[in-house]
Amino acid sequence: MILETFPVGPLQCNCTILGDEQTGEAIVIDPGEEVGRIQKRLVAHGLKLKQILVTHGHIDHVGGALKLKRLTGAPIYLNEGDLEQLALMQEQANWLGVETPETAPPDESLADGMTVGLAAYPAQVLHTPGHTQGSIGLHFAPLKLLVAGDTLFAGSIGRTDLPGGNYDQIIDSIHSRLLALPDETKVVPGHGPASTIGAERRSNPFLRG
Ligand SMILES: [Zn+2]
Repeated sequence: MILETFPVGPLQCNCTILGDEQTGEAIVIDPGEEVGRIQKRLVAHGLKLKQILVTHGHIDHVGGALKLKRLTGAPIYLNEGDLEQLALMQEQANWLGVETPETAPPDESLADGMTVGLAAYPAQVLHTPGHTQGSIGLHFAPLKLLVAGDTLFAGSIGRTDLPGGNYDQIIDSIHSRLLALPDETKVVPGHGPASTIGAERRSNPFLRG
């Protein structure tokens, strides 16, 4: 198994590459930026990209998806609740003072309960609205791994003050969907260091009481 997470772009979004050396297939999660670098990693490992999975429609997570699709032919998956975020791409770019990346509607929606990923390393889609309406987490149960997007961070939670954000909803999503996972589950958040479900359950100040 090849599993690499590295920050991309000015907001340092965590991009993840998961590959299976046996089949030569890979998925990429959240190619927000630095698509050339992502492509180089795939080529270096001799991997063919099968799916581009996007945890939500914010520019720093989805910004490079279409470019990566054009380079590799892989389809883009994004929850349909975040089509409204794609429609706001120009505004999102203006807030950051960066160029507006070209985006396109996803090839498929990441619907709750759906299984995506590789045959050897499948992931279940957990719809976790609150940071945005289409925010999802990807639970790779056999790997004891959750890719959480901007819903849950080490010691923090995603902001809810942007369009589509809802504080009560993100708290409910985390309690009902993410804290339902086993304590030993590793959490790769959308930004910053990794954590575990157990550590967040015990010490995340936003999740007490
Ligand atoms: Zn975000």
